[in-house]
Amino acid sequence: MKKLGVFVCWCGSNIASSVDVDKAVAGALQLPGVVHAENYMYMCSDPGQQKVKDTIVEKGLDGVVVACCSPRMHENTFRKAAASVGLNPYLLEIANIREQCSWVHQNNKPVATAKAVNIIAATLDKVRENLPLETITIQITKRVCVVGGGIAGMMAALDLADAGYEVIIIEKEPAIGGHMAQISTTFPYFQNARQLLQEKIAAVENHPQIKVYRHSRVAELEGYVGNFDVSIRTEPAFVDPAKCTACGKCLEVRGLSGGSAGRVQPGPEPPPGDFPVQPDGVLPGAGDCRRRLPAVYRRRG
Ligand code: SF4
Repeated sequence: MKKLGVFVCWCGSNIASSVDVDKAVAGALQLPGVVHAENYMYMCSDPGQQKVKDTIVEKGLDGVVVACCSPRMHENTFRKAAASVGLNPYLLEIANIREQCSWVHQNNKPVATAKAVNIIAATLDKVRENLPLETITIQITKRVCVVGGGIAGMMAALDLADAGYEVIIIEKEPAIGGHMAQISTTFPYFQNARQLLQEKIAAVENHPQIKVYRHSRVAELEGYVGNFDVSIRTEPAFVDPAKCTACGKCLEVRGLSGGSAGRVQPGPEPPPGDFPVQPDGVLPGAGDCRRRLPAVYRRRG
């Protein structure tokens, strides 16, 4: 069985005012494999880290739980400390007894203490099963897929593209822009939302690093972080993009104003790219486009 050590942090009064850290240590010492448990006021301080390092060496620990704050704060700190004395860093785990324990049970010390012991016990269960891991370096594809071409997706795409990544936007609607086209002004500066949106759409459409797939959805997603394979299904537009000027005449013929197409048209200018005519009439005017502009309409096939 692995020899395990538990280090319970007070975080000043952040943890110690609602968790009885002595009882937490006593509870940890009852658990299988635990050969050392102690508490300390600031475990992430240099003296705190030194305690962890010294104990790993002196007691020959092959698994460690540090019961403290969120792993987002100090998982790296303690894993580096463990690695510096020869313990594989992935044999050290953080038991978060602060954010979802001491902070949320501030008025109930017995409950917070019992919960802290349970969290420590569960984390020890994980450490018992942990295997030493090695960090490897792999090639990644420097291309990012952004799903959704609303204002959030467009801003993300622009930031990524400006940072040097190739960006693919997949937008299910026939045009990018999203719901921002439906509001008049932004908060808190009351800027013209449509004007802002048009600027962003133009920036996206003209960015050499961004490619937009309109009328498209994610069909399949495989792979893992850094190396995803995404299959995109693009619906047919039934319009030859080389001939369609997005003039909107197909709407006029039916007496439809730009408003009826407002969902896809963020301003008085036509949406970028070909007009999305669909055989099932999802966008009104489809029939007229077929009859009046046969040179543009492309048959299904
Ligand atoms: S390790 Fe986390 S919980 Fe402990 S003193 Fe540092 S910040 Fe606070």
